[in-house]
Amino acid sequence: MLVLMNGEGRVGMDAAVLALEAGKSALDVVEAGIHPVEADPAVRTVGYGGYPNLAGVVECDAAIMDGVTRCCGSVGALSGYLHAVSVARRVMEKLPHVMLVGEGAARFAREVGAAEAEMLSDESEVWHRQRQSARLSNALSGREPLAPYCWPRESLHMAKGTTVLLCINKQGQLAGGTSTSGWAHKYPGRLGDSPVIGAGLYVDQRYGACACTHTGEMTIRAGTARAVVAAMRFGLSVEEACHEAMADMARLREGFLGSVVIHALSPQGETCVLSTHDFGPETSWCHWRKGMQRWYETPPEICPLETSAEWKGDVAGSLRKHSAE
Ligand code: ASP
Repeated sequence: MLVLMNGEGRVGMDAAVLALEAGKSALDVVEAGIHPVEADPAVRTVGYGGYPNLAGVVECDAAIMDGVTRCCGSVGALSGYLHAVSVARRVMEKLPHVMLVGEGAARFAREVGAAEAEMLSDESEVWHRQRQSARLSNALSGREPLAPYCWPRESLHMAKGTTVLLCINKQGQLAGGTSTSGWAHKYPGRLGDSPVIGAGLYVDQRYGACACTHTGEMTIRAGTARAVVAAMRFGLSVEEACHEAMADMARLREGFLGSVVIHALSPQGETCVLSTHDFGPETSWCHWRKGMQRWYETPPEICPLETSAEWKGDVAGSLRKHSAE
């Protein structure tokens, strides 16, 4: 038995451990651990209280995957529902599809009786209001392009904070899940990697599981979660597989380049968490395995892309080129 969540998952760890000890299915453990994070307004990058998009709407992405069957489900740009990860699970269980987005996802959430909620907390509303300007209102009303406004201006690191959970239950079954409100002030309709199976999440009972956080645009481009699991399939250890995926990301050229954190585990319970940046406690990860009295938090291994011989990124340059202000 093992559960691994990232730092955002702190508030969900007790529930995940309880579910594991109670012998729940691996998918139930994923939901049990992620629900408290989705409901906690203090976690500003997941569910209720998450930062809104440029139009002031909290749009959530989530995914869930069963390692045994490799069945999976995901939702993107879902607004108005508290537990995106559970809607993703219903997509997996009730539809011949894997992924629903936007209005279709909300319609389906209603159909399966998912918990409705106003997702914009008072704090997030204030945050949004403080960033309004006459130019942005013009852009929002369609009188000028909105695109320049979604390039992060305040901080390169607004693209961080999905919660991810990977687990091995009592029966040795692997599963994983993700849930996020995505980038703060993203372009409406933008999907990150969290709902994209193979980018932000991949689980295969035979070889291992992987989930990614931070700049989803990069892990989508590199197909990172699937790449890590495929590397394990071809004989790499979980650690070697994560390093190989990081090295591959260092070969990305142009586009938006930022931080990425890779979380992975093998079916035998070996773990690896690699981060391109050191954000202190923010990037630490939580884990518990059978026999531990309590769960622990550990800093990730730092693996800066810049140290790779292949790195040719220019993050500051790409921002200067595109930023609105
Ligand atoms: N990966 C997420 C996204 O791109 C954000 C994050 O994990 O911080 O939406």
